[in-house]
Amino acid sequence: MGEFKFIDSITNNTIFDKSSVKVGIGDDCAVCTNTSNMDTLISTDMMVEGIHFTDKTAAPFDVGYRLASANISDIAAMGGYPKQIVLSLALSKNLDTKWVQEVYRGLKMICQRYKVNIVGGDTVSTTGPVVLSLTIIGEVPVGEAVLRSGAKVGDYIGITNYLGLSRVGLETLLKEEKDQMRCAFRYAYSQEAHQRPEPQVELGILLRKHGAHAMNDISDGLASELNEIAKASNVQLVIEEEQIPIHEEISAWSKNKDKAELNRPVDYVLYGGEDFQLVFTIGQKGFDKLKNKSHIHFIGRVQEGPTSVFATCSDGTSYKVLPHGYNHFKEED
Ligand code: ADP
Ligand code: MG
Repeated sequence: MGEFKFIDSITNNTIFDKSSVKVGIGDDCAVCTNTSNMDTLISTDMMVEGIHFTDKTAAPFDVGYRLASANISDIAAMGGYPKQIVLSLALSKNLDTKWVQEVYRGLKMICQRYKVNIVGGDTVSTTGPVVLSLTIIGEVPVGEAVLRSGAKVGDYIGITNYLGLSRVGLETLLKEEKDQMRCAFRYAYSQEAHQRPEPQVELGILLRKHGAHAMNDISDGLASELNEIAKASNVQLVIEEEQIPIHEEISAWSKNKDKAELNRPVDYVLYGGEDFQLVFTIGQKGFDKLKNKSHIHFIGRVQEGPTSVFATCSDGTSYKVLPHGYNHFKEED
């Protein structure tokens, strides 16, 4: 580990579910046990300083929290159980060790909540920006992973909780920074959604158990994720704008025409990213069971037709929903 001896100080208390780990941090590999009749899920995410986080919008605690959240969310999107993670770090030589300790504090908090073990990693120095790379291993009952490609004509389209809050949180944080004002009291929910998003593990498992046919987690905005499902499943998705729940903080912020970056509240839902909520499609039986469940909203149907996504409006008009995500809008603004 060379100059990063301090890593020793943060690699204790990393096991939150002993039952699946024989050897954790300290040897050449971690040794974990597999549960019988489970498929293994593997996913990885990277974050680069200056691209995915800056000191302005994210405390190091939140960087660790968000990185693990995004990673755990990928497991949730398959209907799976998150189990183990390994974290690799490229750190600049003059970086304050306190910064890394804070990253690990955020990481451990969310790992503890979801009983995910930190079983290893790698630490190197870099002359460039800080880079964090997180790999997660999870499990799902054999053959039951919920794929993007499973949507069927006639399915109902559902989402979990509210979408678009993270983008509002980011915009309000950046404005606060620029204008030296505080609006946290007004946009507390959005800022929390941006800084400490919660992966929807329980709902992902529930949706799998109720037979969801297709599922994605929402990292790039609903428009983008719906298009991915449409493409992978070769179907047409039609959502009704009126059925989409809009959180009151999004309504309040989008009224602020000279400050809000997107026009309509529903644009935040469609094009705001990083909510880490879930979008799914499910057949009639699942719909009947879940239609009155809290935290789940049904917003449209799967139809036959060329691979595409449409939205219908209350005035009877409709428009094609293109897969512009958060990044696209960032570039154009
Ligand atoms: P090796 O030379 O075998 O790769 P290292 O010296 O890189 O070993 O790491 C020693 C142990 O510490 C390994 O178990 C490794 O997984 C763990 N480790 C190294 N860096 C980190 C990190 N940033 N976070 C978690 N575990 C780490
Ligand atoms: Mg190593």
